[in-house]
Amino acid sequence: MNLCDLALGKRRRIVFFTGAGISAESGIPTYRGKGGLWHQYNYEEYACQLAFDRNPEKVWDFHEERRAFVARCTPAEGHRIIADIEKHIPGTTVITQNIDGMHQRAGSRNVIELHGSMWRVRCDCNMGVRENNDVPLRSRQCDCGAYLRPDIVWFDDPLDTEVIERAMRAVQTCDLLITIGTSAMVFPAAQIPLIAMQRKVPTIEINPEKTGLTPYYTVFLKGTAGAMLNRLWAHASWTTP
Ligand code: NAD
Repeated sequence: MNLCDLALGKRRRIVFFTGAGISAESGIPTYRGKGGLWHQYNYEEYACQLAFDRNPEKVWDFHEERRAFVARCTPAEGHRIIADIEKHIPGTTVITQNIDGMHQRAGSRNVIELHGSMWRVRCDCNMGVRENNDVPLRSRQCDCGAYLRPDIVWFDDPLDTEVIERAMRAVQTCDLLITIGTSAMVFPAAQIPLIAMQRKVPTIEINPEKTGLTPYYTVFLKGTAGAMLNRLWAHASWTTP
């Protein structure tokens, strides 16, 4: 199957499944690749509930630094093209593993954040989850006195079942799935493309490197997110619904 056969413009329910690679073009480091964050920091000290329970101030210092860094970055070409596609095809959904909010900043509306968001905080008291875009945070404590924690899925945390169900519904009804910039090593997120493959829906992978799932995609586009999405965009011949 060639790119013209996959023409984006004929699809009505596209799922973009994105990982850290798409935001690498905004200057945000990936976790595992070259220059990855976990080569520099030990996640057991900064990104798990145990570390937070041990030393919340140290974990918050790390997260505040990340929030300040990401706030200075801007959405990349890949984020912008996906937002444009959603304008042409309203049935487009982004399922992202990223926590950086870049898809929304680029203009995407229908975004499912599998691993939460660095721009939300939560407390187990009845104040629950809330937006907090302040850099630095106004307070690291909830009104109840407990420490707020970032509303992100840390190592060993379960995923939010409601969020997974939304993602499953999107992938079970999509007519094209495009995976961009993920090493497909984090489960259960990595199962998302497998569902589309089982349904025999066309699937495209965009990545400069092959991954464990590469042989199972309909098309592998070896390259970076912005460049390859541009190529797909150029093949899109729009048809009216
Ligand atoms: P990963 O770090 O494991 O893998 C990144 C993938 O992106 C690699 O396969 C790499 O080859 C590819 N890549 C690198 N540059 C690219 C480019 N320019 N265009 C396209 N692809 C490119 O990331 P992951 O698979 O998303 O898993 C890591 C986990 O870490 C995720 O669950 C995510 O929550 C989290 N994370 C988030 C961010 C963020 O929010 N920006 C950043 C790092 C990690």
